[in-house]
Parts: sequence; C-alpha cells; structure tokens
Amino acid sequence: MKKIEISTEVFVYDDLNELREIEIELLEKAEEALAKAYAPYSEFLVGSAVLLENGEILNGANQENAAYSTCICAERTVLSAAATIFPKIKPVLLSVVVKNTNKQQDKPAAPCGECRQYIFEVESRFQSEIPILMKAQSNKIYKVKSASQLLPLAFQKSDLI
Ligand SMILES: [Zn+2]
Repeated sequence: MKKIEISTEVFVYDDLNELREIEIELLEKAEEALAKAYAPYSEFLVGSAVLLENGEILNGANQENAAYSTCICAERTVLSAAATIFPKIKPVLLSVVVKNTNKQQDKPAAPCGECRQYIFEVESRFQSEIPILMKAQSNKIYKVKSASQLLPLAFQKSDLI
C-alpha cells in the first residue's frame, strides 16, 4: 500500500487592493452579473466573469429551475457563452462572486463539483490553466491557480482512451 498526499494551494487576500487591476475588474464584472441571477429557490446569487485571451470579458449568473437538476451555475453559464461566442479564444481568468440574500456571506464560495469538472475540461481543451478568483460580500478573496487545485484526480480525456 502506498499513500498519496494531495495538497491545494489557496491564496487568501483581505483587500481588493492586493490584486492586479484586471483581477479587480473581473471581480467587479462578476458582481455586476449578480443582477442577472435567477435564483428564486435558493436565493443564493452567483455571478461569474471570464477574461479571454483577446481581452474580451463576459459575465453571467446562476439560472435556477423548478426542476432542480436543470439549474445552471454561473460559471458554466459564462464559460458556455464564451465557448459559443469565441470558440477558439482561450479563457485566461475566471471570477466568481456570491451573495446569499438570507444571510451575510463573507466567506468566498468555491465552484461546485460539477463546475470544477467543467472548468477543468476548458483548461484541458486549451491546454492552459485558468486562475479562479472567489469573493463573497466582504473583501476576503480566495484565488487558486487552476481548477485542478480544486479537483485533484480529475476525470479527464486520457481516462477514456
Ligand atoms: Zn457549479
């Protein structure tokens, strides 16, 4: 028997000013997208924004449904839009902002498991890591260098071959 230890590196910032200008802008775009959230069931609003290699920024929000399994998270909403509008352009930075309308949410929320897998696939497709910024209503920010930091032992294309 052999034991494998896998660690995750999360950078924690307590102030927006510790970030690069483009990172702040991308968090602002995700924050703007909170207004596009359709979350009548959870009342948990999520906005996400993606920066593409060509400088374009897209944002999107979670879209819930009475049939819960058809809900779409903000991250997949915006990355799907990017893949549709700019299919050949590499995403280079992703931000996620959450707002719980029922309580003060100060801790950033990380993408759900399904989104981690989705982001990982986008990284694999473009063979490039996508740093992810996460923020809630306080100025505490988490940052990881890639989806693989959040999804160790990810299922991937090479598993199918
Ligand atoms: Zn998700």
